[in-house]
Amino acid sequence: MRLKGKNVLITGAARGIGKSIALGMAGEGANIGIADVNLESAENSAKEVAASGVKSIAVKLDVSSRDSVTDAFSAFMKEFGSLDILVNNAGITRDTLLLRMKEDDWDAVLDINLKGPFLCSKEAVRIMARQRSGKIISISSVVAFTGNPGQANYGSSKAGLVGLTKTIAREYAGRGIRANVVAPGFIRTPMTDGLGDEIKNEMKRAIPLGEFGTPEDVAGAVIFLASGEADYITGQVIHVNGGMYM
Ligand code: NAP
Repeated sequence: MRLKGKNVLITGAARGIGKSIALGMAGEGANIGIADVNLESAENSAKEVAASGVKSIAVKLDVSSRDSVTDAFSAFMKEFGSLDILVNNAGITRDTLLLRMKEDDWDAVLDINLKGPFLCSKEAVRIMARQRSGKIISISSVVAFTGNPGQANYGSSKAGLVGLTKTIAREYAGRGIRANVVAPGFIRTPMTDGLGDEIKNEMKRAIPLGEFGTPEDVAGAVIFLASGEADYITGQVIHVNGGMYM
């Protein structure tokens, strides 16, 4: 029970890695706000999370809209009264080679993957500075460090998240706020499950540990950063990638 009684807001937690983080943190005793564009799906996930005996609510949130972010944080605070941990997890891809990438593809990805964490972190810092404590954990990607063909928008957004995190870490350490990044590599999701064996084997050859990671591997790093064991860690990146980038 490393997070007993902590109040956590996770963006994009209705499914995928965000949902695994929610279930993992609830297993450590945290109360969870599942914030997602898809409210129905968020409500189902919140019910699953609440089954582990913690409090969990669903909040409608589009991270790229300032009004939606303000409303979601107010709804969360009305229910929970404090915010101990924000996990900036919501993210999208719109992959294509640079010369084919439309301005809309760039804007959509940057709006959700980078402006979203900016807006959410601002709300969180406002609350955490008053509390004089809090943690912000943002989900980046190995692509921020290696680059990847077809992902100029995604790689830029995820690299920007590292700069945003280090800046928050420096600006608000004095207020008791820690900010860190978890950068996953190839993670087993419905998307990677659907790839052909040949592509999967080629991808695995790039991973020294020889396997894709799981959403639970990412959740483990987030839980560690959220816990008291990581209180002296801020402005850092934890890579969860089986060694594919060192
Ligand atoms: P996912 O399965 O697509 O889940 C993302 C969730 O975010 C979905 O529930 C989605 O809702 C929600 N979302 C989308 N736009 C949103 C918005 N504007 N506001 C709030 N929520 C929004 O993605 P995932 O694979 O779990 O990835 C989670 C995070 O890990 C992302 O930041 C991703 O970049 C990062 N990551 C993933 C991998 C990987 O291998 N999967 C690797 C490295 C990093 P809808 O379903 O309704 O759109």
